[in-house]
Amino acid sequence: MEKTLELFSQIFMDLLEDEKTKSVSSYIPSSELFNTLDLSLAKAPMSEVDFEKVIRELVFATTRTATSGFFNQLFGGRNEKAILGDLLAVMLNNSMYTYKAAGAQIGVEATVLRNVCDIIGWDENSGGTFAAGGSMTNFMSMLMARDRVVSDARNVGLSDKLTVYTSEVSHYSIPKNAAFCGIGRDNVRYVKADKFGKLRLDSLQKLIEEDLVNGFKPTLLNLTAGTTVLGAFDSIKDFIDICKKHNIWVHLDGAYCGSVLFSEKYKHLIDGVELVDSFSFNAHKMIGTPLSCSLILVRDKVHLYDSFSNDASYLYQTDHDDFNLGKTSLQCGRRNDALKFWTLWRSVGTIGLEAIIDVQFNLADVAREYIRNNSDYTLYSYDDSISICFNYKDISPVALCTLLYEHSTLLVGYGSHENVEFIRFVTINAQNNPQDILNFFATLEQFVEENVALFPSLKDQITG
Ligand SMILES: *Cc1c(COP(=O)(O)O)cnc(C)c1O
Repeated sequence: MEKTLELFSQIFMDLLEDEKTKSVSSYIPSSELFNTLDLSLAKAPMSEVDFEKVIRELVFATTRTATSGFFNQLFGGRNEKAILGDLLAVMLNNSMYTYKAAGAQIGVEATVLRNVCDIIGWDENSGGTFAAGGSMTNFMSMLMARDRVVSDARNVGLSDKLTVYTSEVSHYSIPKNAAFCGIGRDNVRYVKADKFGKLRLDSLQKLIEEDLVNGFKPTLLNLTAGTTVLGAFDSIKDFIDICKKHNIWVHLDGAYCGSVLFSEKYKHLIDGVELVDSFSFNAHKMIGTPLSCSLILVRDKVHLYDSFSNDASYLYQTDHDDFNLGKTSLQCGRRNDALKFWTLWRSVGTIGLEAIIDVQFNLADVAREYIRNNSDYTLYSYDDSISICFNYKDISPVALCTLLYEHSTLLVGYGSHENVEFIRFVTINAQNNPQDILNFFATLEQFVEENVALFPSLKDQITG
């Protein structure tokens, strides 16, 4: 084991060194992957020397998500205190279903969940759990909503026609989950969003009324804190009354930006979070822990037990339910995702988590200011968001993002809103500083300048 750990730290030190000068790994077309790297598996073992060589090649060829060249998704960076926790979790290799199997680690998970509930402002009836990702925590919310409306669904299945409501710009896991839990994709109602990407109450009212007339049972409203493209926040308080009136479960999908909870300055963006039935967020997005670290919190934990507990005499043999976390989880065997959040939180304090959030909004302000002061750019997104949506010199965002990727220059993605396509730049890596943000734009501009021939529309503009 000692030798293996040494190898790990050698390879990783070398990668860290390489990342200093090379923020994007060399592009390998997917069609060339298996010709470029030998990933084959063989009957015979490999010599240690060859094994090390292959591992190195693989590590160096892998997409770099921790550098200031990666803005492609809603995560990035490398938080060392959280990494320590995750490395320890791998080495300790517990499964979080029972106190017997995870011991003190159960206390870690319980402590994180209790503290988050306290910050939300919920009492001791509240609770939560960790799941494998934001799609899964959204799934759990839908199951709890279903089981509250049709209390015997978990035993006899569904015969009622249930409907769920979500924004037309919400995450694609909602229709998937509706399929998984027997509600059906066709019974997802897409509520209109306004130009800021926020859910519209009038549209929701109309849809609910139509469904009631047609004999459907409205079951769940999924709100979003940080929509996937614009990073918009639905106004929670506007929707509580109508949901109370119709006994609709309110879930807040905060996978992307729910972590504003930790910032005094930005938690107003989720004003009313204490009024929802369930709230989920990904600490692996804004908080910056390694993937995955997804929490779901419920105002009344009885719903977690109602939907997820199962007797299993071979598993639950000792200790109280509060220590046997398998009673409230989706999975059976479950990796320890709480520890990396705990090591980070313990080390930097709640104030440190707040700073991580605030940095991202500051970086977003830097990016928006740069764009607003430069007439070659058009801005499509709004303040109070860490998604900055823009176009540069009328260049097709799809072409630009793809060329930047294929030339191993920058990783950034595109999106669209109200039929306009744009680059979506995300300032989620809190290890970046304002200069990294300005460097992004400088790199992009330089790339375009040096590759004018690749952009037909631009060539026309210049020569025409
Ligand atoms: C990322 C995201 C999800 C999905 O989370 P995963 O952990 O990737 O499954 C759900 N909702 C929103 C708004 C997201 O941004």
